Amino acid sequence: MSDDRYSRQVRFAPIGAQGQARLVGARVAVVGCGALGTAIAEQLCRAGVGFLRLIDRDFVEWSNLQRQSLFSEDDARRAAPKAVAAAERLRAINSTCVIEPLVEDLRAANAERLLSGVALVLDGCDNFPTRHLVNEVCCKLAMPWIYGACVGSYGISAPIIPGQTPCLRCLQDELPGAGETPTCDTAGIIPPAVQMVAAWQVAEALKLLIGDQAAVRRELWASDLWRGTFQRLRLTGWRQAGCPVCGSAATYPLLRAGDDAAVVLCGRDAVQIRRAGIDLAAFAGRLGGALLVANTHLVRWQDGMVTATCFRDGRVIVQGVADASAARTFCDRWLG
Ligand SMILES: [Zn+2]
Repeated sequence: MSDDRYSRQVRFAPIGAQGQARLVGARVAVVGCGALGTAIAEQLCRAGVGFLRLIDRDFVEWSNLQRQSLFSEDDARRAAPKAVAAAERLRAINSTCVIEPLVEDLRAANAERLLSGVALVLDGCDNFPTRHLVNEVCCKLAMPWIYGACVGSYGISAPIIPGQTPCLRCLQDELPGAGETPTCDTAGIIPPAVQMVAAWQVAEALKLLIGDQAAVRRELWASDLWRGTFQRLRLTGWRQAGCPVCGSAATYPLLRAGDDAAVVLCGRDAVQIRRAGIDLAAFAGRLGGALLVANTHLVRWQDGMVTATCFRDGRVIVQGVADASAARTFCDRWLG
C-alpha cells in the first residue's frame, strides 16, 4: 500500500501532511558517502525527501562494511564507487526518491557547482579541509548545513544557519593542523557513534526542510557513548563579527585560494601534496604498526600497497596511488 508509506511520519504532529509534502519537494546534498553519509542518506530517503545528491570520491572497501550501512560484500568485492553503490541501494529502498550520485572530489574549484540547486547540505565528510570548504560555500549561498563528525565512541554535531548561528570558522578559528585530530584510521570507530550523530543531523534536517524554525536547535551537541558523557553548548553569542566566512566583509579564503597544489611526481608512481602544521612526533606516535620510519625530518608509514612520507615542511609524498585525488583521500584518512 504505497499510500501508507509515510503514514507514521504524517501522524507525528510536528510534521503532519503539510510537512510531508514539503519533504517530498525538498532537495538535499550529502557530502561524503562514508559512515555518516550513508546513515544520513538512508534516513532522508526513507523519510521521503524528494531529491538527494550524493557526493563522494571513494570506492567501497572491506573495512567500510563494519559501519557504512548502505554497502554490501558485493560492493566491496567490485570496489564500487560509494556514491553509485549508495544510490543503487537507496533506489531499492524508495523508488520515488530521485538520487543523483556524483563520483567527485569536492574541491575549491568545483564546490559551488556541486552544492548548487539544493536547499540544505548534510556533512558526511571525513576531514576538516572539506568541511570548511562546505562551510564557505553554504555561507556564500546563505544555505544551512549540518555539521557532524565522529571518531571512536565520540560524536559531535551542530546546525550552521547563515545569519542565525556562528559558522564553523567562527567556532574553530583555525583549521586543525594535519595529524592533530584523531581519524577513524588512527583511533577507530564504533557503529553506534555514527548512528547517534546521523540521528542528530537528520532530526535538524527534517525541522529545517519542513520550515519548523522554532524547533531547530541552536546548540552544539557532543557525546561519548563509551564514557556516557553528553555536552551541549549554546551557539548564540559565538558569532565572530570579523569572521572571514560569515562576517560582513567575508573573503571566503579557501574558495579564493583554490585547490591545494598536488603535484604528480613523474616516473615515481607518486604524488606530492602539502598540509599545514604537521606535528611529526605526535603523528608518529599514533601510527602504531603502520609506522616505518620516524626521525626529526620525516615520518614514513605504510598502508597496504601505499607508502607515504611526511616532511617537517608539510610536504607529503604518497607512493603507490593512481592520481592526486587518491593521494588526497589517503592523506585525509591518515592526517585528518
Ligand atoms: Zn563565521
